[in-house]
Amino acid sequence: MDFLGRIFKFLFWLLIVSWSVALLRRILAWMLRGAMPAGTEQAGTGSAGDAAGLKSGDTESGVAARRLVRDPVCGMHVAEVLAVPLRKSGELVHFCSTACRDKYLSKTERVAANG
Ligand SMILES: [Zn+2]
Repeated sequence: MDFLGRIFKFLFWLLIVSWSVALLRRILAWMLRGAMPAGTEQAGTGSAGDAAGLKSGDTESGVAARRLVRDPVCGMHVAEVLAVPLRKSGELVHFCSTACRDKYLSKTERVAANG
C-alpha cells in the first residue's frame, strides 16, 4: 500500500502546485493590470533616455509624456498623453474625457454670457 500512498501524495502535491500556479497567475495578471497605466514607460530605456535628455535639453518632452494634468471639472488627475486637451483663450486645459470637456465648455460659455 506504500505505492498507493505515494500516488495519493503525488496527486495531492499536483493539486497544490496547480492551484498555487493558478493563484499566482491571477495575482500576476492583477499586478500587471494595476501597473499598466504607469507601466507604459520602459524602465531600462526610459532612464537612459532621461539621463541623455537632461543634458541635451529635450527632457521636457519626456517629462510631458508622463506628467499628470488635473481635470478642472471632476478634479481627476490624468496622464497628459491620455487627457483630452482644449485650448481656451490661449490656456491649455486637459480633461479626463470629452464629457468633462463639454461640461467645462458649457460652464465657461454660461459664465461668458453672464459676464
Ligand atoms: Zn473629468
